[in-house]
Amino acid sequence: MAGLFQYSCDFIAGADKEEILPPASIPEIAFAGRSNVGKSSLINAITNRKQLARVSHTPGRTQQLNFFEIAGRLRIVDMPGYGYAAVGKKKVTSWQALIKSYLKGRVLLRRVLLLIDSRHGFKDVDSEIMDLLDDAAVPYQIILTKVDELKKGELEARIEGIEKVIKKHPAAFPIIAAVSSHKGNGIEELRAVLEELALPPAAK
Ligand code: GDP
Repeated sequence: MAGLFQYSCDFIAGADKEEILPPASIPEIAFAGRSNVGKSSLINAITNRKQLARVSHTPGRTQQLNFFEIAGRLRIVDMPGYGYAAVGKKKVTSWQALIKSYLKGRVLLRRVLLLIDSRHGFKDVDSEIMDLLDDAAVPYQIILTKVDELKKGELEARIEGIEKVIKKHPAAFPIIAAVSSHKGNGIEELRAVLEELALPPAAK
């Protein structure tokens, strides 16, 4: 594998409150989405590792931001999953408090990848997160996950529906990415996006 993702992606820090966030020093890309959206699988697929995002599933660490770094050029920030139906509101509130403190003035945060399960589309809780990102003026891109579960026509209809919604969201990137971590669809394309946003390789 050429490029950035031939290098290892290492866990550098976890933070559950503002005071212990690692200082920003290189570009960051954050991954966000509802619990079970396929976020760990996608981070693992992109970084070509099997267990990288496992740390996020460790009890007690599920509500923190986890920072990973590749080759000193890019950080991947795994944001806590949000929105299990039964505890939705409460979780969103604590999630929002943590990410608000992270988003505040994080100039090196290049983009938030907002993962949406392609089978389910937007839920109310996703809209709340989008409003929050719009308010914080953080650029974000919608990533449809698990597209292997949809027929071609269903995926096209889903993308069309989402395009309509994001037109109303000023900080949303107009292009929607569609991925399957299981089958590999869209992974190379997403790596290319991340590589563009990373620091260039150091001159040898
Ligand atoms: P997280 O909670 O957002 O980190 O989600 P996980 O990565 O743990 O995945 C949640 C569930 O979705 C697991 O059962 C995965 O096997 C499944 N999943 C993840 N990615 C895909 C995918 O690309 N296709 C399909 N069909 N299922 C997936």
